[in-house]
Amino acid sequence: MHATQPSLAPLWNQLREALRGRLNAQAYATWVNQMSCLGDDGVTLTLGLPDTFALDWVNNGYRDVMQEELHRISPGALLKLELDARGRTDQGDSHPEAPASGPEPVAVLLPTPSTRPQPAPAPPPRFAQRTPNAAPYQGSPSIPMNERYTFETFVTGPSNQLAAAAAQTVAENPGMAYNPLFVFGRVGLGKTHLIQAIGHHVVKRNPNARVQYQTTEQFVNDVIHGIRFEHMDEIRSIYRACDLLIIDDIQFIAGKEACQAEFFHTFNSLYDARKQVVITSDKLPHEIKDLEERVRTRFQWGLIVDLQPPELETRIAIVKKKADNDGIHLSDEVAMFIAQAVRSNVRELEGCLIRVSAYASLAKQPITIELAKQVLKEIIPGKDRLTCESIVKTVAAHFDLKVADLKSTRRGRAIALPRQISMYLCRTHTGASYPEIGNALGGKDHTTALNAFQRITERMEEPEVKRHVEEIERALLD
Ligand code: ADP
Ligand code: MG
Repeated sequence: MHATQPSLAPLWNQLREALRGRLNAQAYATWVNQMSCLGDDGVTLTLGLPDTFALDWVNNGYRDVMQEELHRISPGALLKLELDARGRTDQGDSHPEAPASGPEPVAVLLPTPSTRPQPAPAPPPRFAQRTPNAAPYQGSPSIPMNERYTFETFVTGPSNQLAAAAAQTVAENPGMAYNPLFVFGRVGLGKTHLIQAIGHHVVKRNPNARVQYQTTEQFVNDVIHGIRFEHMDEIRSIYRACDLLIIDDIQFIAGKEACQAEFFHTFNSLYDARKQVVITSDKLPHEIKDLEERVRTRFQWGLIVDLQPPELETRIAIVKKKADNDGIHLSDEVAMFIAQAVRSNVRELEGCLIRVSAYASLAKQPITIELAKQVLKEIIPGKDRLTCESIVKTVAAHFDLKVADLKSTRRGRAIALPRQISMYLCRTHTGASYPEIGNALGGKDHTTALNAFQRITERMEEPEVKRHVEEIERALLD
């Protein structure tokens, strides 16, 4: 660790070098040179970007690569990206037209003046403005994929099995199976990971395959630039010449008519040529507002699969796999504790692991359950609220039963399921042991609690059981 020399920004210097080797020269010159080190305490490296456009772009395109390299340099170190308010002041109001965010092209094409000691070269525009002498557009707009986002590192369980299987089928037979594949899920549940895994697999099978991975934001910017600077032909030729087009977070196309039209024609052209299109979204097609009907229909042509929040077992497996990959030694007990702490977002789950590991490494202590509890207490406020008692009460209310019913020895179906769900939820949401859970439900044997947990875990594939559990969880966590 480098905690002893914060003023020298050692993490930043090393990360910059690592990125020089990892990114292509243009990406490095465009983005890394714009970054400034705002803080480096050996654990958290805070980097500033001069405007929201650059911040969004780096967040979407390079953050994972940066975090990965940082982690290699200093296991457990955290990366924070922020707007560099200082940089803005330094730069004065030299590009007042630049909006805070959004796709207005002026913001992108204006060079970014800088008064830093070693001024960064003005970021080359993604597409040169066409003048009579301008060279034709040469580059590829595909943004780099995270090499760790593969099928091998994607942990499957009931919550994501169907989506993973569909992704694998598409990766094996691009353009032949489901077209488009539409992956839907809330933030942090592995959409980007899964679709990049398709990209990696396709390239592995066929190194000549032309794979374009794009964020929707990038697609939108390309179209706006293309229209404005009359190089739509180049852009079309790139988007329409690929074998696999992956567009991430398509919900951001809502309300952008010209981009929707372009997407529509791009899709048709690829589809007709039997090329694969893969899309992700945090909304289902019918939930995306301001979306042209013809585009919505295209989304529904192939297969829509969803990623649900992973169950406890899957969360444990994810934590363990991530720890293994990062060389972090983690006991089963700590893996279980972390997996219980975060339920609905895998990115946050990983964040907890990184945080625990960073603290242990700084404090030169092994990762014990006590340490994990201490570290995560700060970032999971309210978790302590959940007790077996509060869970049993909420379950009873949900099923319109009395707490005494759940604690009784009565066996009828109407009570057995709610009782099993209570036990399952006690296990997944509190640190209670099976004997403690048995006690909380009127002094049942610990094997009854264990069986109930296993039974409900299996039955989570049944929509009705799942719905009950999710509704109760919502009531508990709100
Ligand atoms: P989304 O695009 O849905 O917001 P990401 O694909 O960015 O989510 O996933 C967030 C983080 O969680 C990534 O680091 C990813 O590798 C990890 N992740 C998500 N789901 C899984 C999984 N099933 N197995 C392993 N890692 C996962
Ligand atoms: Mg994503």
